[in-house]
Amino acid sequence: MPTTEVQSRREYPPGALSLRCLMQRALAAFALLLAACAAPAGAPAPAPAIPTAARLEPLSATPTPEASPTPWDAPEGRPRYLLDVDIHYSAARLDVRQTLILTNPTGMGLRQLPLVVAARWVDAFELGELRVGGQPWTQYAFSQGVMTIALPEVLAPDAALHLELDYALRLPENPGVLSATRRQIHAANWYPYLPPYLPGRGWLIHPPGLVGEHLSFAPADFEVTLRPDDPGLVLMAPGARQDLDAGARFTLPGARAFAWSAGPAFLWLDAESAGIPVRAYIYPEHAQAGQAALETAAGALALYQELFGPYPHASLTLVEASFPDGLESDAFFFLDQAYFAEYDGTVRNYLTAIAAHETAHQWWYSRVGNDQALEPWLDEALCTFSELLFYERLHPSQVEWWWQFRVDRFNLEGYVDSAIYDLPEFVPYVKAVYLRGARFLNDVRKLTGERALLAALRDYAARHAGGIASAEDFFAILDEHSPADLANLRAYYFKP
Ligand SMILES: [Zn+2]
Repeated sequence: MPTTEVQSRREYPPGALSLRCLMQRALAAFALLLAACAAPAGAPAPAPAIPTAARLEPLSATPTPEASPTPWDAPEGRPRYLLDVDIHYSAARLDVRQTLILTNPTGMGLRQLPLVVAARWVDAFELGELRVGGQPWTQYAFSQGVMTIALPEVLAPDAALHLELDYALRLPENPGVLSATRRQIHAANWYPYLPPYLPGRGWLIHPPGLVGEHLSFAPADFEVTLRPDDPGLVLMAPGARQDLDAGARFTLPGARAFAWSAGPAFLWLDAESAGIPVRAYIYPEHAQAGQAALETAAGALALYQELFGPYPHASLTLVEASFPDGLESDAFFFLDQAYFAEYDGTVRNYLTAIAAHETAHQWWYSRVGNDQALEPWLDEALCTFSELLFYERLHPSQVEWWWQFRVDRFNLEGYVDSAIYDLPEFVPYVKAVYLRGARFLNDVRKLTGERALLAALRDYAARHAGGIASAEDFFAILDEHSPADLANLRAYYFKP
């Protein structure tokens, strides 16, 4: 689409846009759509040191919390987040009381503990008080987006720790994944979280890149209470909802992250897909497009359950957003208002393709995690290829259109396995990781046959559910199922 058309659809003056948004506008100008937005770029944060082994007395253990099991991950040892949020809507401010109950996952004694505080990248985070084991505690330091807490005593392997943080979030107005715009609050990457711990590698923490996402998450259990100062606010969040006198509480077990939104003017539409309730929250002027997005998500959910295995959550919620493109979270995703505004009554558009793409992230991000900074293709190429499967199965007459619109009209280059630090601009990043990634998987299918590829994807989803999978894991399973040698294809698409 012409650049002018793209620019005219945006409500925000260029000066109001973050670097990330500018990159994504450039992306949109090339009509290379891509969901899964990154947090704003910032100066790299050094990763905290990997904890050293130590032997001292464990802290008096807090009992491991009860949590509802999900079909795909045992709850034992999962962190538990209790988040109580006062929403001061017109002031664009959240006051948060957070309890984080965790067990030491490292197999070593821990002297210090890292929490990732992504809200610091947009200068939104103001810490009031930290309490460790119920006692006020000041032994912590921030380095960019990482808060390292020096623990009062060494935390033994598998011992539990009870942290409480009181903080305020002053939400930026610039449209982004953590922001308060004219239409709504977007709350993604908003609370301090415990990063995944990978045996042999340590804490999985990466600095932001200029493109893509750099955060990875381990499954946890969430209980989030949203208390708006305006009873007219529509609260939009994943999980089981319990309405309170003022506000609502949402319970989401076995999720990597918890994102939500709130705004004064939304309508909602409901569907059900293979027994899973699906809800879309839409701007009132976009009801028809909202129905289309809802139907796409519901259809994609049923299809991907059939192709990839069980959906990992009990419901799915999608929310129209006033930041570019979209963002996946667990049982939840944001989708750009521009796609709704441009909806043309057909399935030949980004609204449909990206709604299917974001739904696929419930398998390739939520069910199976990956290192989003170093191996972003593992979720993004799979989700782009999943779009193709959606069109092939549900709209077979539009498959040629999908290839042309989404992939073939672009001059593609770049390694599929590029890290977010390898490519300094968003367009080359999307071409390499998403679009060449989809071509790679399609070529794998040609070589192995669809039955073998889908069997491998189901196996990958099942074996790595709840974990952080690597390219090595993916190829090990693919090789088990593939009657063909994939070496030449890998040499063509991947780094030498
Ligand atoms: Zn994506």
